[in-house]
Amino acid sequence: MSSPTRRNFLKDLSLGTAAFSAAAGPENPAQVAGQPPPAAAAPQASTPAGIMAIAAHPGDAFFAMGAPVALQVQRGARGIFVSLSLGEKGSSTIDPARYGALQREAAERAAHRLGALSVVLPYADGEVPASDEAKFAVCDLIRQHQPGVVVTHWSGSWHKDHQACFRIVNDALFYAGLPSIARSQPAHAVGKLFFADNWEDADGFKADTYLDITPAFQAWSEACAVFPMWRGETGFRYNDYYKSLAKARGCLGGVDYAVALMSPPEQLTRRVQAL
Ligand SMILES: [Zn+2]
Repeated sequence: MSSPTRRNFLKDLSLGTAAFSAAAGPENPAQVAGQPPPAAAAPQASTPAGIMAIAAHPGDAFFAMGAPVALQVQRGARGIFVSLSLGEKGSSTIDPARYGALQREAAERAAHRLGALSVVLPYADGEVPASDEAKFAVCDLIRQHQPGVVVTHWSGSWHKDHQACFRIVNDALFYAGLPSIARSQPAHAVGKLFFADNWEDADGFKADTYLDITPAFQAWSEACAVFPMWRGETGFRYNDYYKSLAKARGCLGGVDYAVALMSPPEQLTRRVQAL
């Protein structure tokens, strides 16, 4: 692992270089699929980037991706939680129809607590298809809400829905940014993509960015507590894991609480005119 002085420390997920508390951040926005390499970014540190978390299930959206959303919303940005399914098959004691309704209600309540929006797409839990139909559905949400930042699943997951979500988002970003693809909304190129630190997506996950979520930690953990599964009722102690992880990542980041994020390789490419 690189030394703390060389690791990316972020106070927010805006595009401006002034957002970095240490001088290790990329100086240019990422090249977005379907777009040429962008010119050097104009400083935008005072404008927090809108953020969209796109997950297979509501638990992933709020537990693994929710703290960055909470932070950006706290800074004045728009936050949108997108779940491809309700995660309705996640309970061994409550039937899927009932559990799905509980999950939808919890997602809406949690998003509302954070001042964000919850959107659930109608795919079946465990059967999320990496289809063009799903990719264009996500493309349309990206074009509609125009986030500057997207957080989603890393591909190295044992869960098939998470793998599907990774592929869906990758192509949805491409479709969303390509002006020649005609949809009801004009093209929108997302500035940054990050993969979340998710216990189910750990294969090959390599953190390169530590986001200081201390100001949003309380609000985020209270929003997560709306979900019964946060307390371990489906078998995994999400609350203990993700709150402890935030503390542990904070230790590495030199702050109280942090989340670790992984960037696509092209996003870490630096274009400089001198060394
Ligand atoms: Zn999941």
